[in-house]
Order: sequence, then C-alpha cells, then structure tokens
Amino acid sequence: MSVETATKSEPQALLAWPPQLDAVHLQELTNLATDWSMFHGLVYRPPANPPSEPYPSTSRVIHAPFTLFPSPLPRQLYELARRLQPLYNTLYARIAVDVLWLDKIMSAVAKVDDFQLELYKIWKQVRAEGITQPLELGLWRSDYLVHSLPDGAFTLRQVEFNCISSSFGALASRTNQMHRYLEAATGYYGAHPLLNANNLPQNGALEGLALGIAEAHKAYGVPSATVLFLVQPHERNVFDQRPLEYELLTKHGVHVERVTFADLAASASLSESKQLLYTTPLKPQPLEISVVYMRAGYTPNDYFGEADWAARLLVERSKAIKCPTVGAQLAGAKKVQQALMEEGVLESFLLDPARGPEKFTESDLVLLRASFAPMYALDATTVQTTIENAAHLVLKPQREGGGNNVYRSNIPPFLKKLPAAEHEAWVVMELIEPPPLRNVLLKAGASEEGGKEGDVISELGIFGICLYGSEGSGSCEIKVNEEVGYLVRTKGRESDEGGVAVGFSCLDSLVLV
Ligand code: ADP
Ligand code: MG
Ligand code: MG
Repeated sequence: MSVETATKSEPQALLAWPPQLDAVHLQELTNLATDWSMFHGLVYRPPANPPSEPYPSTSRVIHAPFTLFPSPLPRQLYELARRLQPLYNTLYARIAVDVLWLDKIMSAVAKVDDFQLELYKIWKQVRAEGITQPLELGLWRSDYLVHSLPDGAFTLRQVEFNCISSSFGALASRTNQMHRYLEAATGYYGAHPLLNANNLPQNGALEGLALGIAEAHKAYGVPSATVLFLVQPHERNVFDQRPLEYELLTKHGVHVERVTFADLAASASLSESKQLLYTTPLKPQPLEISVVYMRAGYTPNDYFGEADWAARLLVERSKAIKCPTVGAQLAGAKKVQQALMEEGVLESFLLDPARGPEKFTESDLVLLRASFAPMYALDATTVQTTIENAAHLVLKPQREGGGNNVYRSNIPPFLKKLPAAEHEAWVVMELIEPPPLRNVLLKAGASEEGGKEGDVISELGIFGICLYGSEGSGSCEIKVNEEVGYLVRTKGRESDEGGVAVGFSCLDSLVLV
C-alpha cells in the first residue's frame, strides 16, 4: 500500500450509525449487555457517596459505562494505527534514553511547573548517583481521533502518547468481548450487515500488557521475585487492574502485590546492592521486587506529601525495573510531543544509526509525520495568533488523566490572565475534527432507563509494550517491541474531555468498515 493510501480513507466507509432498532430490541440488548458485563467484570466500584460513606464500597460494583454498539472505523486506519505503534515505541524508547535532549526540553518546563519540577529533581538525582537498572518497561498507549481532511477523506491524528498508567487494557478487551457476545447471541437482530464477527477485531490488550510485565520480570532474572502494582488508594477502576494480576499469576506464574505510596513509604527499603525490598505482614521474609508497574504517580494529587515523593525516589534509585522510569514519564510530556514537530527532530531520533540498530525508511517517517496534529510552543511570539485562532485550538498543560485542557473560546480570557513566565508550561494544539458519528451510550447505573442515542466522538488508543535500555552514549537497545491491542472511548460530542474514569466517556470497541 502506498504511503498516501495508507494514511487516508474515503468517507463512504463511515455510514449512518448506529443501526436503528425499536425500543424493545434496544432494551433486550441493554439487558444482555448489562448482565454480561456484571458477570465478566466489565465493572467499576461505585462512586463514593459522602459523607456517610467516605470511600467507594468494596462489596458492590456497577457496570462500566459502555456503548451498546461498537463504533465504525475504516479498516485502513486501524491497520495504519497498528503499523505506527512499533515506530512510536522505538521513538519513545530512544527519547527516554536521550537524557541530554530530554533534559533540555524538560528543564525549561520544570522552571514553571511544580509537578514536573519534582519529577525532574528525582531524575537528576538518580542520574547523578548512576543508573542501577539499565532496563525500562513501557506499557504505552498512543491515542488518536479520526480527522476529516478538507478533501472529505479521513485520516488519523494523534491526540497524545501516554507513557505512564496507560489504562483500560483489561476493560477494553472485555468491551470487545461484550460486543462480540451481543453479535453471537442476537446477531444484533440483523440490524446491519457489518455487525458480524469478522468485522469486530479481537483485542489482545489484556494479555499483551501482562506479557510486557512478564517479559520485564524475566529480564530481571530472579524468578521468585514479586511484581509491585503501585496503585491509588480507594481505586474505583480496580477491575481494570486485577485481571493483569490474574493473567500474570495463571499464565506466567508471577506474583503481584498491590501497594500505595503510603505502603511503600512505610514498608519498602533498598538492600546494599539496591534491590527493592518490600515487607508485608503476610509474608515471613521481605519480598524482592522485580518490576514496579505504576497505576499511580501520574498526577500531583497522587503525592500526599514528602513521604510519597521519598517513596518515588526510593523506587527510582532501586534495581527494580520501572514502568515507567521517571525519565520515561517525562518523555510522555505534551511538551515532548510538541518538540517532535520541530524540524529535523524526528529524523535525528529515527535515522541516526548511532541511536540503535533498527532501520527506518522514509515512508515510516512520512506515516509518523502524517499522524501528528499541528502543535507549537506557547511564547511571546505566538500568544496573539493563539488568541485569534482560538476557535480551532486547544491549550494543554503538562498533566495526565483528563480535565486539564483549555478549549476554544476559553483560551483568550485564559491567556490574557496567564503570566508570560508561565507560557513554557503549556503547548498549543490544533483541534482534530472527527466526522459526525452516533451511538447509544449506557452510563453506569442508568441502564434501567435504557441508553440514549446521541452524537459522539470516538477516540482510538493503541497499546504498545516496549522493554528497552540505555546502552550509554545515547544508544538504545530494544528487547521487546510490540503492538498488543486497542481501546476505544466514546464520549458525547458536547464534552471536550474524554476520560472514562472521570465519567466523561464510555468504553467501546471497533467495527471495521
Ligand atoms: P490527558 O493526558 O489528560 O488525557 P489529552 O491530550 O488526551 O490529555 O486530552 C484530553 C482529551 O481532550 C482527549 O481525550 C480528547 O478528547 C480531547 N483532545 C485533546 N487534544 C485534542 C485535539 N487536538 N483535538 C480534539 N480533541 C482533543
Ligand atoms: Mg494522557
Ligand atoms: Mg488522553
């Protein structure tokens, strides 16, 4: 396939969607989907209900918000996203080990962003002490929206590349199975010829992410060691995490402990040779930790105080393989994504043979570049144009987890108040323009009323696993590099943000058209 045809798809592919069914059929699909979800763990803990119940109940669940129908995506664009993933994995592995380049970018951000500063200080300290563990694990997710080109064709544009706590591998795999079940059980009542199993691509995200952790555990070289999942206290999204543990135990024979920063602060230590040791009352001896998989630590809210930051530092200083290292977390900053647009940067990372043995073609670079949505730095020279073009732009700070961006008409008043010294903390991005799409969204707890069809936007995420290490002198050795599965999150068109966990989006899957 030529590069040109690989990046574009013709509009006839996205048909009127979803198929129309009467209320009786929709209600039956809803009942089937809800029961399937409860039985198979497509669930969440219910939200906390203060003040009587300060934390989410651990004895009840609600089904995750999901779409009744999978969402259509041109097959070509799905193949394109999958093809891009190993390229993006290599790119980000090379960024993470290029400390000089990353330092130049992130030291400027750290001056104006307190959270990035804390991470940056840990990174500096650990580099000064010397690296104890050359291997790093990336469980990454590259997110895309379909973009309508001026000629009417569709292409994919990257929203962001997540380097820490890339979530929903397990629940997205379940959502795909749920849609496949509805098709198998009912044929969706013959509502649409595209709704057959051949067009619903299986999703290996759960198995693939667990494989990534298992590979890192193996590379650590101590089979009896334990993997730590670093999690938030009172996590509602625990059923996206537990299946990874079950998979690690049953398929790979690897044991997992779930800990919070507070647990680490109280019970983790380093041996003389910098092994990470974790003491639990449940085991007679301290556990040696092979891999620390972080599902916490990506937002300032995860660090309740000095002790939590000290715990993060302890992990970084240890011999355990980190997913991610603090350096790789910094590499996931939106500022890095924006810097990749600048002239010659992509070429320097991918075409320079000193970076590693993988060979990239010109067309690989063209495909990567075609997936970028235009971004630029916010500074004194760009503030005015940003205000003038605000209707087509989004402003992003260096944060993860949703709810942090400033959109469209909110940009001018925001920029008028933002001190010039803080410009560096933000990047400007052109809005991606997804084609109109509709689906039936079933919000958690609202299924009794039935789903409501509405205008939606679907965001595609592709999961990648990457085990890589610094060879010194800027070179990067990549031991594992795979694309392993996908996530679709679908939100009402009226909502700018897309987090499932924060309640804006529904879990979805693909129907290839
Ligand atoms: P976070 O790391 O907080 O998830 P994102 O960059 O993914 O930040 O932005 C959050 C959401 O905002 C996305 O899921 C998407 O719905 C929307 N968004 C972000 N960038 C764009 C863009 N360029 N065009 C359209 N929507 C965007
Ligand atoms: Mg993110
Ligand atoms: Mg995001």
